Amino acid sequence: MTSTTTTGTGLNARTTQLDRAHVFHSWSAQAALKPLVIAGGLGCRVWDHDGRTYLDFSSQLVNVNIGHQHPSVVKAITDQAALLTTISPATANLARGEAARRIVARAPEGFNRVFFTNGGADANENAIRLARLHTGRDKILSTYRSYHGNTGAAIVATGDWRRVPNEYARGHVHFFGPYLYRTEFWATTEEQECERALQHLEHVIVGEGSTSIAAVLLETIPGTAGVMLPPPGYLPGVRALCDKYGIVLILDEVMCGFGRTGRWFAFEGYGVVPDLITFAKGVNSGYVPTGGVLISDPIAADFDETVFPGGLTYSGHPLAMASIVGALDAMSAEGIVQNAARIGRDVLAPALAALQAKHPIIGAVRGEGVFWALDLVTEPVTRQPVGPEVMARIKAELLGRGLLPFVIDNRIHVVPPCVVTDAEIAEGIAIIDEVLALDL
Ligand code: PLP
Repeated sequence: MTSTTTTGTGLNARTTQLDRAHVFHSWSAQAALKPLVIAGGLGCRVWDHDGRTYLDFSSQLVNVNIGHQHPSVVKAITDQAALLTTISPATANLARGEAARRIVARAPEGFNRVFFTNGGADANENAIRLARLHTGRDKILSTYRSYHGNTGAAIVATGDWRRVPNEYARGHVHFFGPYLYRTEFWATTEEQECERALQHLEHVIVGEGSTSIAAVLLETIPGTAGVMLPPPGYLPGVRALCDKYGIVLILDEVMCGFGRTGRWFAFEGYGVVPDLITFAKGVNSGYVPTGGVLISDPIAADFDETVFPGGLTYSGHPLAMASIVGALDAMSAEGIVQNAARIGRDVLAPALAALQAKHPIIGAVRGEGVFWALDLVTEPVTRQPVGPEVMARIKAELLGRGLLPFVIDNRIHVVPPCVVTDAEIAEGIAIIDEVLALDL
């Protein structure tokens, strides 16, 4: 542990007092909040000021792919800070060019331009704008059970949280993507669910008027909604529909990109290439806020002579750019993406299958790489999701045993950093095993 540990200084209490007095938290009712105090971290562990440590099976908001405080990324940021901490996006900056080059180098052929943003939501905002300008069309199709960010168009495109006021709802249409485990429709096999979802999407395209649709926006693997791996054939089928009707395909790789699935991009595993790729989180593990859109050549060419009306003061911020360079170089040099693939295939897949065989509360296990969800049910036949009180108890019991989980709705998402070791997986799985064996 490092010098950030300051046992007995009262800093935990001080942090909580300051937080509750002055910090207005996102996605929360404020009154009853008592957020976990985190003071430091290294690799897959974080700790508070009193030295209480947690094994981070959440990667925070599924973004710390390279683990906490990776020395190469910290050094890249501090080196850049010593040189130049901020510069307008209108300038040319070496760190920005190097970051863009490294992202392009990992992208499919035909993607040569990167538009930088401050995070994932504004990446989707700008992808939507690019698609609208490219097609001269308005509507954006996205799925129920999706999360694309919490800004104007991104939250309207989001399929979860439909109860959020949608003041900018113009031109957004939702459809049902594949989800065999809880399908609303007739399918009983993955093949049928794939066929059902593609038929349904084509009906929505035709029903909405294909020439009014600018883009289909999909998370390659819906993450927050439950790590719902698309059935084989689904994404190529969506691609074919987009081609048939002249629609731009935007794949949101904000959560699933940059190593989480054991590949640089999740779509590499599904036989599809989109027109626009949005990214954030894993590109620099969130060490400095950033994100962006990878733009395919035909769309980028639209703006050779025409102004793209988008951009933010901090787009392509030098500290963020340096952290991308540091993170991507270290991920390549240390085989971190390969580690995520191996852990998923050889360690997590069998361990989670064994856990499911032992605990009937686990209705389904889905995932790949270091991107998994345990779907908890009251009993396997009805697949009734476990309720919020029990999930709160599960979360508290996991935390109490030193495991920092990503718990959402009725699910435990198992999403440790890509650098996680076999021993850390064993430690975390043992804690989940112990908690699920309690009389919940
Ligand atoms: N897209 C996906 C798939 C996400 O999971 C998220 C955040 O969780 C976002 C977009 C929004 O990213 P940000 O919170 O950086 O705006």
